[in-house]
Amino acid sequence: MATIKTKGIIIRRINLGEADRILTILTEDRGKIRVLAKGVRKPKAKLSGFLELFRYNEYLLAEGRNLDLVTGAYTIDNLVGVGQSLRSVATAYYIAETVDKLIEETQEVSKAFEIVYRSLKAISQSGDLDAIKSWFEINLLANLGFRPELNHCVECRAAINEGWFSFELGGILDRVHRSADPAALPVDATELSELRAIGGNIPKQVSSKVAQIGAGFMEQIIDRNLKSKEFLADVTSGFRE
Ligand SMILES: [Zn+2]
Repeated sequence: MATIKTKGIIIRRINLGEADRILTILTEDRGKIRVLAKGVRKPKAKLSGFLELFRYNEYLLAEGRNLDLVTGAYTIDNLVGVGQSLRSVATAYYIAETVDKLIEETQEVSKAFEIVYRSLKAISQSGDLDAIKSWFEINLLANLGFRPELNHCVECRAAINEGWFSFELGGILDRVHRSADPAALPVDATELSELRAIGGNIPKQVSSKVAQIGAGFMEQIIDRNLKSKEFLADVTSGFRE
């Protein structure tokens, strides 16, 4: 039986049958994978302590019939501080669920692992949760190909330092073109430079406008992603009829 070694963070767990679990792992080198942990819910199961949610492990996997099987694990970082408060756990759940929704199995997204690990690490080290959440949202989206345009008006390409942020159009609009999206949010020069800087390190804190833009932009992309999946499902079922 072929053995595979990989490292990654557990982003989802579902119970299966009497004592098994299916784990979704965001790996360093294989994208998102689903694996089967057999017997892991039995009392005294050897691996159960290693297979907690948000755990960063190295895994030994054996080829299984449908899913690969976890045969060994050791912890690289238990990220124990993630559990320090209800809000910190909720933020970690949000990060894990968002990644699970946006990234397909085995889809290679450069830096997705790094972004998730840095976010969870910052949570476990008591970083500002709003700042971590916004940093995660804007950086994950940028790596998925949705880098917001923050330097030029998305309609006419004029360079601007303040304007209106459009979720729909994925960037800022100047005064002339703000009507292109009536729902666009006004962004002043300070907020815009804050947004531009968020591609670097996780900030100590973020303004409520930046938090609103990160969350709104993420919501928009998840919604669009869901609609295109539904569309694809409709089209495929149409072909079958
Ligand atoms: Zn313009």
